[in-house]
Amino acid sequence: MLYLILFGAPGSGKGTQSDLLVEKYHLTHLSTGDLLRSEIASGSPLGTTLNEYISKGNLIPDAMMIEMLSKEIDKHASTSKGFILDGFPRTVEQAEALQQMLSNREGSNVLLLEMTVEKDELIKRLLKRGETSGRSDDNLETITKRLEVYEAKTKPVNEYYKTRGLHVGIDGMGTVEQIFDRINQTLKQKI
Ligand code: AMP
Repeated sequence: MLYLILFGAPGSGKGTQSDLLVEKYHLTHLSTGDLLRSEIASGSPLGTTLNEYISKGNLIPDAMMIEMLSKEIDKHASTSKGFILDGFPRTVEQAEALQQMLSNREGSNVLLLEMTVEKDELIKRLLKRGETSGRSDDNLETITKRLEVYEAKTKPVNEYYKTRGLHVGIDGMGTVEQIFDRINQTLKQKI
């Protein structure tokens, strides 16, 4: 079972590329951001708490995210051909928990694709998305915070996968189609 981690800073194109990959490879898309936003949209008390973290650009506590992801994998595992993990893991603690989860599942094939995009371009893309997304975190102040959190807490996840030989870098600059092509070239060699 393939667990393809689409990794990169906010605005690096994880969601966009996930949609294309799902269509081509029929994988199950697990986006922790989407799961959190649907909880917020439900109007539940939990959603209100989650929105306090998200709208300020902070991460949700690891224990909560690990439980959420683990439940989603369990829910789909028997019918899925494989997963795209979009937005998880976002800390080294989450990476360790994922590794632990998958060590109990035979035949797990993990690969992390890191999409690299220049900072100016990330900000440009996120501000543009903010014009229509309605997301509470697509404004300049929260974007700046999210990029800081990415550098401090999320970027180190790369090393975790590099040391295990499970990391591939993808140039995330260019058109959606160009980036999708690069990802496909990698997948051809790796899966
Ligand atoms: P995203 O849609 O992936 O950009 O996620 C939006 C926001 O949801 C992030 O800025 C975090 O506040 C929160 N979030 C999403 N995934 C995670 C995660 N794995 N760990 C902690 N917080 C998360």
